[in-house]
Amino acid sequence: MERHQITGHTELIGLLAYPIRHSQSPATHNAAYEKLGVDIVNLAFEVDAPELEDAIKGLRALKLRGANVSMPNKTIVHQYLDEISPAAKLCGAVNTIVNKDGYLVGHITDGIGYIQSLKDNDIDPAGKKLTIVGSGGAATAVEIQAALDGVAEMSIFARDDKFKQNALDTVKKINENTNCKATFYPLEDLDKLKEEMHSSYLFTNATGVGMKPLEGITYIPDSSFFRPDLIVTDVVYAPHETAMLKMARHAGCKTMNGQGMMLFQAIAAIELILGKRVDSAYMKEKLG
Ligand code: NAD
Repeated sequence: MERHQITGHTELIGLLAYPIRHSQSPATHNAAYEKLGVDIVNLAFEVDAPELEDAIKGLRALKLRGANVSMPNKTIVHQYLDEISPAAKLCGAVNTIVNKDGYLVGHITDGIGYIQSLKDNDIDPAGKKLTIVGSGGAATAVEIQAALDGVAEMSIFARDDKFKQNALDTVKKINENTNCKATFYPLEDLDKLKEEMHSSYLFTNATGVGMKPLEGITYIPDSSFFRPDLIVTDVVYAPHETAMLKMARHAGCKTMNGQGMMLFQAIAAIELILGKRVDSAYMKEKLG
């Protein structure tokens, strides 16, 4: 592995999460810094919730340019920051910290990444209807950003579990803070799901269904839920094609997996911290 030449000028950006050693994120960010020609390295730090406050104090003291944040810290780091972006406030989560001369601003780029991955595939949901399934972190970020970016109508489905209240809260926040009209439906009502999918431009799975340990599984009973002009996307990126995306593709739908969301959320985070945008085609090639 070719190593970045570290000197007294080299700056550090940290990823604060636990567990984190398996993460692809530092490799992605370091590849982007190299392409941008900036003298910065990105390292993963095993920071769990009890150590987070000290880690943020350290970030200030060491004058890091910023940080990336993952679980379990995404939903608690806001209390140690000076300002939170409107999207991060609505999501109740932060994945990017920008250090503006000691003033720390929190952002969330997961939803931005999803919307940019749509645009990258010539899909524009502005002014249209989205049906989406999910009530967890990824779903909330996508739902909030889609509403902020001009989706006109959103039908949010979620199953009755510990995340359901998030979806109900998200619907309320969207209706109170954006021009999008959001409605909640229980995922158990499959007739309603089919009806809402049939009147939508875009359908998105924003749950972990389709990924291990739920690989090969989908809550969509059969291909009659799809019509060829429905665009179908999944936030899951491993496997490359979930059972749901495969069924949609066979029904003639244009499909997109979660790989673009992951790439573009990183590109957006780097742009927020450094004020520079790395070429997405280069990053796609670099990351395979
Ligand atoms: P989470 O734990 O916060 O939420 C899990 C969600 O899955 C909830 O809505 C829950 O109701 C739903 N769910 C779980 N089992 C279900 C089932 N059997 N039937 C119906 N719904 C079910 O998780 P998360 O962080 O939101 O991640 C969800 C998925 O999104 C994961 O597969 C993750 O890999 C993916 N993700 C992708 C990106 C990306 O950049 N592409 C980013 C974040 C997460």
